[in-house]
Amino acid sequence: MKKEIIETLSNGYVMGKIKCIVESKVETKNTTVFEIEKFDLAIKKSLLQIAKLKESNQNMQDYLSIQELMISDPSLTKQVHSFIEVNNVSAKDAVCEVMAEFMDGLKKSSSSYLKERSTDMEDVLNRIVENLNDVVEKKESEPYILFTKTLYPSYLIANMHNILGIITNYGGYTSHTAILCRSLDIPFVVCDGDFVENSLVIIDTRKGLVITDPSEDEVTRCRINMEKRGSFEKKAIAHPGFMFLANVSSNLDLSRVLDYGFDGIGLYRTEMIFMNTHRPYSMNEQYEIYLETVQKMQGKIVCFRTFDVGDDKQLPYLKTFKKGIDNYKNNPILFIEQVSAILKANIYGNVRIMFPMIESKEEFLYLKRWVLKIREENQYNMPKIGMMLETKEALEHIEEFSDADFISIGTNDLTNQLYQISRDDGIDRMDSYFADLLVKLKKVVKFCDDNNICLSVCGELASVTNAAISFYKIGIRNLSVAPSAIRMLNMVYDEYQKIKE
Ligand code: PEP
Ligand code: MG
Repeated sequence: MKKEIIETLSNGYVMGKIKCIVESKVETKNTTVFEIEKFDLAIKKSLLQIAKLKESNQNMQDYLSIQELMISDPSLTKQVHSFIEVNNVSAKDAVCEVMAEFMDGLKKSSSSYLKERSTDMEDVLNRIVENLNDVVEKKESEPYILFTKTLYPSYLIANMHNILGIITNYGGYTSHTAILCRSLDIPFVVCDGDFVENSLVIIDTRKGLVITDPSEDEVTRCRINMEKRGSFEKKAIAHPGFMFLANVSSNLDLSRVLDYGFDGIGLYRTEMIFMNTHRPYSMNEQYEIYLETVQKMQGKIVCFRTFDVGDDKQLPYLKTFKKGIDNYKNNPILFIEQVSAILKANIYGNVRIMFPMIESKEEFLYLKRWVLKIREENQYNMPKIGMMLETKEALEHIEEFSDADFISIGTNDLTNQLYQISRDDGIDRMDSYFADLLVKLKKVVKFCDDNNICLSVCGELASVTNAAISFYKIGIRNLSVAPSAIRMLNMVYDEYQKIKE
């Protein structure tokens, strides 16, 4: 039987047996002192589990640190203790009540960043409750396709080596689980209805289908196709005249960028490293980080985007403004120090500096002048200086940006501004605006060709198969995607070459 995928959160093609996640058992109430001790023990266990996970999962450090902070928050412990004492309830009831209140507060926030933190908190709550229930995590020996109503990142992290794919009834494209699945290359889809434990299913995101109880023919076809896909294993195929670029958010992604054969980094989201501390990084600290990146990339392009804060990206130590240049004008030292650190790290001369959320030529030239001034004063290598094209204003006046060495299209913000597409919307909404977007982007391609400006796309649409093929078709040669999307890039490139022939 074929079920249509309602939404693809992470692409892939797999076949395996279904495992359904079982709900945790219900807890009974004991004496108040016992419940408090039990809660404290569950907190300790949870922290130990996270510490262990951190050791073995280098690329999950940030996410796990957030969990650690939430679990060790003294106000959580204080409130749960007092809830148990005052209401004479079980530790489980108390922690559920207290955390529900925290989560409610976050969910009501207008910031999508804070809204997402409520999902992290649900995950934390699950871990604590599991430890209260003393549920021992059972390691599955056979890889399986997981079916669950909702999935929390901690389960995924603990079981990722056995999970072939995930089917869920609810889930958002920018949820942490979806982001982790894309980075781990695990297909993740939203589908209606239930699935039977141990039944065989095929997930095929290209066709938008989940096949339950496949026929012998379908199983054979799937095996052949999977073998074919294997030839597109995580290594860039030859792609002359095109650039396969990677989006990275920390130096942890770097090894994969090189292993998979990317031509360089098309978008380094520097604000992500700023989010890891409770104070701004000094110029020297930043320099060390950027230098490590540049050295590891061994002369390949490294495009650092100057910190892009505001809206959903807030820093605890910085007053931020609407995303864009105001953040630099109001925090000039941070901007100057960042540019100085990037320029100093430009040892091979292949560094690009890219400004986000540019609205006008004046803004671009103002920032460019700063970069040139710092470069000249210190006799650093000359970087390429470019901008993201992600505002309505810049798109409308694209012909004014002939001073940019390169332009990278940020489809996430651009589609938000043009079509009110939020980051939580599914890519299925793409049908309603994509044709219009392509018409607009064709003009950008022409302008860049006429002015010899290197053009790329670095928003999430670059890793959506149909969108990526369309970008190739209108003449965009450079796509910048999460490292795990290398297989998608290979397939898109291959398909585009066949269409051309
Ligand atoms: C974009 O807007 O498409 C983009 C790549 O930038 P951000 O970091 O805001 O997603
Ligand atoms: Mg953006």
